[in-house]
Formats: sequence, structure tokens, C-alpha cells
Amino acid sequence: MKTVIIGTGPAGITAAETIRRHDADAELVLLTTEPWAPYSPPAMADHFLTGRREPLFWKGEDAAQRLGATELRGVRVTDVTPAAHEVTLSDGRRLGYDSLVLASGSRLHAPLPGIDLTGIHDFKSLDAAERIVEQVRAGDVRSAVIVGCGFIGVELALLLADLGVRVTVLGRRGWVMPRMLDPDTAAVAEAAIRERGVELRLGVPVSAFVGDATVEGVELADGTVLRADAYVAATGVKPHVEYLGASGIGMDWGVHVDDRLRTDAPDVYAAGDVAEAADRMTGERFVHAIFPNAVAQGEVVARNILGIDTVYAGAESMNSLKHLGIPIVSIGAMSGDDVLRWQHGRALRTVWLTDGRIVGCRLAGEIAGAGFYRALMLRGDDVRQHGRRLVEPSFGPAAVALPAVLPRTSSWSHVA
Ligand SMILES: Cc1cc2nc3c(=O)[nH]c(=O)nc-3n(C[C@H](O)[C@H](O)[C@H](O)COP(=O)(O)OP(=O)(O)OC[C@H]3O[C@@H](n4cnc5c(N)ncnc54)[C@H](O)[C@@H]3O)c2cc1C
Repeated sequence: MKTVIIGTGPAGITAAETIRRHDADAELVLLTTEPWAPYSPPAMADHFLTGRREPLFWKGEDAAQRLGATELRGVRVTDVTPAAHEVTLSDGRRLGYDSLVLASGSRLHAPLPGIDLTGIHDFKSLDAAERIVEQVRAGDVRSAVIVGCGFIGVELALLLADLGVRVTVLGRRGWVMPRMLDPDTAAVAEAAIRERGVELRLGVPVSAFVGDATVEGVELADGTVLRADAYVAATGVKPHVEYLGASGIGMDWGVHVDDRLRTDAPDVYAAGDVAEAADRMTGERFVHAIFPNAVAQGEVVARNILGIDTVYAGAESMNSLKHLGIPIVSIGAMSGDDVLRWQHGRALRTVWLTDGRIVGCRLAGEIAGAGFYRALMLRGDDVRQHGRRLVEPSFGPAAVALPAVLPRTSSWSHVA
């Protein structure tokens, strides 16, 4: 059985590892546009600050050899032809497959005038990260403007600030990481970010990157132009689906997948940032571009390729921020018909409920019990009986004397 995997990010490499774990003889071909061994994007900031390689190359720099896989780096898939079970590479080569995994992840999405000007940085790949860090280390960048205040923009801002750069972050919305945090939890994050020396300018829409051929400034909606040594776009991500145009594979923003992460083409699966999977809580289909979903989906895809019928439980909206100096966890929704808050100094815990069931939480400073909230949320327990205790840091299975709460929280289930 020959499996071709497009992408060696968390989704692709997890699919490869899972196949190898169950099948010593499977033929594995890993394709990546990048020159690197599989790496973990969330570990890039740590790598550039500390020089450590292990968290970055999280599967080892010899991952492909260890898995007995053929790894082609620096190659781009330009076409997929499901009828022929074939992919085409930019150098014209064609590769046949028995099964194909689309794990091509996502790229920067920056629908702003001027984005094609030379010199605009991003932080979406190791190459891109190296480019800006090298310029900082060479002394060419002492100030930077980052457009976008999602978690990627914030991570880069903190890294650059730690490297001695004067950083300004511009956010269209009035608070940081608006897709992940409510305004109150974001305020905790903002205080930590500002303490690290980053200037945040929030509620400030950007109208364009400006310059002749090379970027020379960022223009705000009020006409002001901000100047710096470096400009970064961190405005969002978009699935890498360009190479699927002629394939006939169904997609909208991302690739359509069913509950086994099969696309609508025979023997073609999709996992990670490229896949538009159902949300575990709401069933709504969208791209959940976070690391744990990519890993879980890579595993589900591999199991189904191996013939182990496995249903994906659905993607989760979940994240944890470790770079701020204050831990923050976000799980599920940020609204409900009831909300409980607990605050102590800088620590803030918020739990949202609908019909007495937890639908989401945001924990800052005191993150104990996050896993327990998630478990209760996934199980859909009515938790009204616990009242305000629910939001206190001491809340947990022991504190509330619940019968051993051991909900099944795995991201997939094996269909016997
Ligand atoms: C700076 C940064 C920080 C992050 N921090 C967090 C975090 O704290 N928590 C969290 O949950 N998530 C975080 N994420 C998001 C997380 O890294 C992604 O969700 C995850 O990497 C997605 O994995 P993936 O395998 O789907 O795709 P990717 O990691 O994007 O990998 C895609 C792979 O596909 C290859 N590829 C693409 N197109 C082609 C093609 N045409 N031909 C061949 N190969 C191709 C690429 O070269 C690459 O190997 C962060 C991301 C970034 C950039």
C-alpha cells in the first residue's frame, strides 16, 4: 500500500507515524515545499530565543528515515488527479498513490492593498521566521509594525520585543486575539504584553501597506502612515488549496471532509489546517486551524487508510498561551445564557453556560481544572447544582464530590 502525504506539518507527520505504527511494510512518501524536517510552528519563538532544536523539530530531524519514509523536501504539488490516483509536482514529476493525504496546512491570508509589495514579513513558516530574525540579528531591524493581533501576531511581537526590537501591534478589533479571547480575558493578556514592552494599538483599522515597489509604511484608516524598519502581516490564515483547483475535490474555504475525514474523491483524505471539519460541540463545519486538531485528524486519517474504521469526534476550539508570562487557556464558546466569573488579582476565570451546561471557558492566571471543564462540556452534564463553586480554582472532581467523572474525551472512536 502506497500512501502519499502532502505536507509534513503536525497533520502529515502524525498520519505517517500512525500508519507506520500499524504497518511495517506500508510505502510512505512525504512531500513538503519547505527545506526542513517536520517542525512545530508553535515552537518557533522558543527556538529563536533559546536556540533549542528539539521542541522545534519535535519528531527528530531524522523523522523520515526513522519512519522508513521517502521524504521529498522543497517540492510543490501543483495538481491532484483523483481518477488516475496521481499527483503532479512543479518539476513535472508524477507520483502515483493508493491513498493520498492532503495535509498542506495554511498560509498567510492578508486581503490588504499593498500586500504584494516587497519586504513584507510574516511568521507563518520557519523560512519566514528566519528571514525577519536574521535581519534583527544583523542590526537592520530596530522597530517593527505588526498588522494583526491574533495569536501569531502576538507571538511574533513578544519574540521581537525579547530580541530588543521596538514593536507596535495594530489590531482592527478593540482587544487582542478576538477569535480566542473575550474582552475581559484579553485585558489580562494585554497587560502582560504591554509589560513586555510591546505597544498595542487596538481598534485601529489598517487600510493598506504603502510604498513604491518595496513596503515603506502602514496606512491607517484615518490616513496616518506608520513607519518602521520592518513590517509584518499577521492578519489570518487560509488553507493551502491552490493545487486542488482542477481536481474536482469539493471545498469552500477548506477541503470538505466527512466524519472519517474522507474527501469526496476516492482514497483521498484531508487533515489539519486544510480541512473543513465539523465542530465537536456545534457540528458547524469550518477550518479549526490549531495544532491539537491537526494531530488528531492526522491520526484519524491514518487509521481509516489502514482500514481501521474510525469516526472523528469533531474539531475543538481550544488553545493555551504560554508565551505571555501568565498562562491562559481558552476552550469552546465565549457566550451563553449565563456567565460565571471569578477574579483574584490578575487571575480571571470565566465559564459560560447554556441550559445549565458548560459551553466554554477562559482561564487566565489560574488555569487549574481546564481539563475538567472540557470534560464536563463534552459530556454535556447539567452543572447548575455547583453554583458559583464551578468557577473557583478549587473546582474539580474531588472538590465537588462528583462520582468519578471520566468522560470519553478522545477525538475519535473506533467503529468495531
Ligand atoms: C507562529 C505560530 C504559532 C502557533 N501557535 C499555536 C499554538 O500556540 N497553539 C495551537 O494550537 N496552534 C498554533 N499554531 C497553529 C498550528 O501550528 C497549526 O494549526 C498547525 O501547524 C497545522 O498543521 P498542518 O499539518 O495542518 O499544517 P502546516 O503546519 O501548515 O504544514 C503544512 C505542510 O504542507 C506543506 N505544503 C503546503 N502546500 C504544499 C504543496 N502544494 N505541495 C507540497 N507541500 C505543501 C508545507 O510545506 C508544510 O510541510 C501556530 C502557528 C504558527 C504559524
